[in-house]
Amino acid sequence: MQSRILASDNIVTRYSELFVNRRAYTIQSPTPNKEKHRCYYYRPKEHPSLSRAVLRNHLEGAITIGLYAINPETQRCKWVAIDADYSEALNDLLKLQWELRQDGVDAALEKSRRGGHLWIFAEQPLLAIDCRLYIHNIARRLKVPIKGSILTARSTSETPVLADGIEIFPKQDRLNSGEFGNGIRGPLGIHRATGKRYWFYGADYTLEDQIAYLCRLKRITEDDISGFLSDLSVPDKAPLPAKPARRHVPPSRGRREFFILEHVTGRRRKSGRNYFTRCPSCARQGHDRSGDNLAISVADPRKYRCWAGCTREMIRAALGCPIPTARTHQ
Ligand SMILES: [Zn+2]
Repeated sequence: MQSRILASDNIVTRYSELFVNRRAYTIQSPTPNKEKHRCYYYRPKEHPSLSRAVLRNHLEGAITIGLYAINPETQRCKWVAIDADYSEALNDLLKLQWELRQDGVDAALEKSRRGGHLWIFAEQPLLAIDCRLYIHNIARRLKVPIKGSILTARSTSETPVLADGIEIFPKQDRLNSGEFGNGIRGPLGIHRATGKRYWFYGADYTLEDQIAYLCRLKRITEDDISGFLSDLSVPDKAPLPAKPARRHVPPSRGRREFFILEHVTGRRRKSGRNYFTRCPSCARQGHDRSGDNLAISVADPRKYRCWAGCTREMIRAALGCPIPTARTHQ
């Protein structure tokens, strides 16, 4: 039996500032479900609004709450959490933590029942879609599996999807009115299934030390994230030819550069330094119903990337302009 932990007013305030995106929340059932032995979360009928008293009860261990990632009024989040609970989970989370550090982003690793959660905090709330795109890009760069993503390049309507992999919260790009999206266990509470409190690795195991540690982390800004998204690499093995060399290519033999904006139809939205529009390759497979899987750099529209993982070849083929196989080296 653990000794009772008390949460001061200051701790409750700082916890709320760090984690609460909206007043709706969930409560973890105190008893496991009979078949699956899991403690499910439900939206409380009593006290449906996340008050200081609810937060205090969570931190002191009387109840355990789940937090939603997206504020529906702004479609923004104060944090991004990466959840991993498969066999290589901790390994992958540490890889992600390291890679984020290379971008100057601090991420706090919290234990969980089977793996861990990696948390990143925002200076000001960030658009959910930008957060998701950024983490998807990093995960793909590191070959960390993303749950539910497409397995193979040659996909059919029965595309196999990865059952194991990280989950990124926010799990939605945006919420429609009346939607809540997915919640994640609020950190620093007690997990009902194990009766254990899972702490962050980076600080001593007291509420004061843990919160102080989280408040010290460098937070990601809107400028940071636009910068990261504008660095979307061209997913093409051949490097772009250096500019001066191109002058010597005879016009008749030179291949006209491909500008994807001339080919994609459909609605597109500008966010940060990118346009977002439906990925033609995803669309061909019946995916991307929200119509924003494809990011195209505003500054350099030769750069584009599908966050669901379609290759450049797949996208070009879907547009009816396949990449010629005999590439002219210049
Ligand atoms: Zn795609």
